[in-house]
Amino acid sequence: MIMLLLGAPGAGKGTQADVLRDRLQMAHVSSGDLFRWHMKEETPLGLAAKEYYDRGDLVPDGLVIDMILDRLAEPDTTNGVILDGFPRTVAQADALKVALSKRGERLAALYVHVPTDVLLDRLSGRWICRSCNTIYHEKFNPPHVAGVCDICGESELYQRADDKRETAENRLEVYFTQTQPVIDYYRRHGALEEVDGAQPIDQVTADLLARIRRLQARLNRAHDGVRRDGRLPATSAHGPLPMSDVSPGSLVQPQLEPS
Ligand SMILES: [Zn+2]
Repeated sequence: MIMLLLGAPGAGKGTQADVLRDRLQMAHVSSGDLFRWHMKEETPLGLAAKEYYDRGDLVPDGLVIDMILDRLAEPDTTNGVILDGFPRTVAQADALKVALSKRGERLAALYVHVPTDVLLDRLSGRWICRSCNTIYHEKFNPPHVAGVCDICGESELYQRADDKRETAENRLEVYFTQTQPVIDYYRRHGALEEVDGAQPIDQVTADLLARIRRLQARLNRAHDGVRRDGRLPATSAHGPLPMSDVSPGSLVQPQLEPS
């Protein structure tokens, strides 16, 4: 099973990916890392990608998908894969869907949703003491006296460009402009699992684990059902169902699940 992990900058996606990888023994595949690895190792896929890259052209979606499919053949992926950084567009999501359903692979998108004002608070508001480098946050960890370092008294607090609210607003705007259509795409296909990412980190992890286990249980029941009918499943008994065989909502809508 492929789990796409979606979440804005500041949503805690990286932290959650690490925890899920360890708890579920899944492989964590970052499409950017995978791409760079192929280029560096000069694999056939890497060399093909490099031709586009060196010309300054976009690397075709098909090539990136081939890299992902190739990675799915590695032995560490038997418990599933957490895929990070792909797809970024609806065209890529469509191409990935077609490629995965040909291989009988299933996919679900996990979206760590955090309201924009909370993201802005998390991404911005960091202030640093120019003298002793103590880090403050104007909301979560302010100095006792505004603008004055607790440790060394009178010294000046400053903000790095990355920590300014305007920078954070721009980052989020870029993210949502690019990714909202992908989120909507998976929601339309009944393949989006949304968790509340504004909760404490441990609770977000617990929610994600519960969703994933429910998806896995549902998948296993689907296989059992086919076997009870005396018909062979479309794929091997322990293999996943192709995404195309799953009607929208039948697999992933939590409200249909008995608790
Ligand atoms: Zn200081």
